[in-house]
Amino acid sequence: MKKLTSWLDIPADSDFSIHNLPFGIFSKKKKGKTRAGIAIGNQIVDLAALAEAELIDVSPFVFRQSTLNDFIALGKKVTNKVRLDVQRLLVEADSPLQKKQEILILQADVQMHLPIHIGDYTDFYSSIEHATNVGKMFRDPENALLPNWKHIPVGYHGRASSIVVSGTPIRRPKGQVMPKDATAPVFKPSERLDFELEMGFITGKNTQLGDSVSTTDAADYIFGLVLFNDWSARDIQKWEYVPLGPFLGKSFGSSMSPWIVTLEALEPFKVAGPKQDPKVLPYLKYTGKNNYDIQLEVALQPENSVAHTVSNSNLKYMYWNMRQQLAHHTINGCNINVGDVMASGTISGKDESSYGSMLEISWGGSKPVTLKDGSTRTFIEDNDTVIMRGFAEKDGIKVGFGEVSGTILPSD
Ligand code: CA
Repeated sequence: MKKLTSWLDIPADSDFSIHNLPFGIFSKKKKGKTRAGIAIGNQIVDLAALAEAELIDVSPFVFRQSTLNDFIALGKKVTNKVRLDVQRLLVEADSPLQKKQEILILQADVQMHLPIHIGDYTDFYSSIEHATNVGKMFRDPENALLPNWKHIPVGYHGRASSIVVSGTPIRRPKGQVMPKDATAPVFKPSERLDFELEMGFITGKNTQLGDSVSTTDAADYIFGLVLFNDWSARDIQKWEYVPLGPFLGKSFGSSMSPWIVTLEALEPFKVAGPKQDPKVLPYLKYTGKNNYDIQLEVALQPENSVAHTVSNSNLKYMYWNMRQQLAHHTINGCNINVGDVMASGTISGKDESSYGSMLEISWGGSKPVTLKDGSTRTFIEDNDTVIMRGFAEKDGIKVGFGEVSGTILPSD
């Protein structure tokens, strides 16, 4: 890929390079109304202002909204053109944008919002390392993976209403837990609050009830990706999850990063996925490289202290890829809508340093982690902040996601 250079000053290590150009919803601090923008370096291209200046061929109205749903629904032909037009305007000499710098806004001067109205949220369970680790701890070390796992991209329907944008605090949930050796459950604040390092994809196209999306066509239905922290209360989860799966141990909150990185921006970072053995059923077969080499990091920062990296993982470890997830999700005729979120499931690698949850890092609470400030953690304590970051980099070209962070407030 040819490396592009912008006339705009972009920090060399910025996640938001000229090759990225992700979409988000922002408002100016104090009095601003929400509108759509594209991140570039430490600034934002105000798309409504760009459209008003007639530098892109889309109605400004579609950008003066509180979500990107209507814009995304215009289809990839339009959304890709807007992104490439903005790229051209930021690269070409004598660009008309250079003379209209009021269209560029400092990220430091804005507040970011949840970029989409999320109709439905599905959470997969597609990391073989994570599923194996959890199976060993919660069930049977000898048969950690259930018999269906290598045949089905296992998932469940999550709760869309409690997905919040990065920076939103999360209140420690209360619920039923079954203490060890007790005969009856008790109601109390979760003592095993955890993060789950995930990425989510945002669907960009509706289907009709009864339709299925093939693995071949799936990319047309994926608008882009975000970082996703699927907060989990392990003690609540452990007591409630049999037989229908996660419920209140998950639905109290999930956090997502504000900038949606398009699938097109991630194209250069595609890699082959792990070999799938046994062979999958025909509707899950795919061709080509459909995993993405995205480096991921989780840091835990206690109140008034320094951040400590607890995990370095990578999206490329996923056993099931996004095409297979979408094909599976729709094979029964279930319809999808623009703005649905489908998350990967916890992204763990083989190595302990790449585990994507405290459950695995502390191995069920048996191996405390010592942080930089000398304190120890098995799970997340009150006023801890969890920060996840992710980026892809190749041949000097970087495409990053910024971060998703959230602070845990004490239970009320
Ligand atoms: Ca999850």
